[in-house]
Amino acid sequence: MRYLVLSDIHANLEALDAVLAAALNSSINRVLVLGDLVGYGPDPNAVVDRIRTIANASVIRGNHDKVAAGLEGSDRFNHAARIAVDWTARALTADTRVYLAALTKGPQAIDELIEVCHGTPFDEDVYIFDELDARRALRAASRRLCLFGHTHVAVAYRTSGDEMHVSFPRRNEPLSINLAAPGHWLVNCGAVGQPRDGDWRAGYGVVDTDAGTVTLLREEYDVATTQAKILAARLPEALAQRLRLGR
Ligand code: ZN
Repeated sequence: MRYLVLSDIHANLEALDAVLAAALNSSINRVLVLGDLVGYGPDPNAVVDRIRTIANASVIRGNHDKVAAGLEGSDRFNHAARIAVDWTARALTADTRVYLAALTKGPQAIDELIEVCHGTPFDEDVYIFDELDARRALRAASRRLCLFGHTHVAVAYRTSGDEMHVSFPRRNEPLSINLAAPGHWLVNCGAVGQPRDGDWRAGYGVVDTDAGTVTLLREEYDVATTQAKILAARLPEALAQRLRLGR
């Protein structure tokens, strides 16, 4: 079974389409979407429509999806995020809003090996930034491989007994994880639509359960078009600038 892992698309249609074009010809059986389909970016309805056309997709919600759909207020968001989510809430069609409001809350068990969540398995809104956070999340995980998003930083944690191993992808090199190594895994495959790890390219992952591998990949996309759309929508200029920086 080969899973395509997408997280934090954030209404970036160019990034999503580049990833789908690159990945969907590599015999993917199922697509896992780890939340934050919308927020920050200029194409919330088109991104949701694209995800809805994918057969065999499992989608959980993120914090931006909740707020944009009106399930929660934006008081916990920073200034730019709040402006963007308010813009998104106004831009959503009734159909998209209903879809986002009905999204499943993580964590969600996918099969015997994999569980997905947006932030952590114990709280969808909590961030995993360091080893301490990772240990706490791994204690709450129900599967050997827990896939998460929310931080927009690609990283893989593995615990085996008291040991903790951390790997980051190196620039221009996909990170390949061999699940045969003992222990439990906590993996963020990166953000499709707004990476924050210094690499502007769209981040995603492929889990191959037969081969026992997780591969963290990056794909270039037409970032200038997304930036132009952000400015044309009068969203905060900083949201356009950060896309090119991967910050
Ligand atoms: Zn996000």
